[in-house]
Amino acid sequence: MLEKNKLNIHDIIEMKKAHACGTKTWEIIRLGVDIKLKCTGCGHEIMMDRLDVYKKMKKKVVN
Ligand SMILES: [Zn+2]
Repeated sequence: MLEKNKLNIHDIIEMKKAHACGTKTWEIIRLGVDIKLKCTGCGHEIMMDRLDVYKKMKKKVVN
């Protein structure tokens, strides 16, 4: 794993695909085996497998 892709709580990440609300950025609100993400557009929360997050994210936007 690249150090620049290391995720921390409250990081904002950009996904390759937009959410239903049109927003591509999500805030990390819980880190574990699964990662809990909150859409910065509509506030929708999802749980995602850590590996899935790395596959689906485009880049980290904010530390
Ligand atoms: Zn959304």
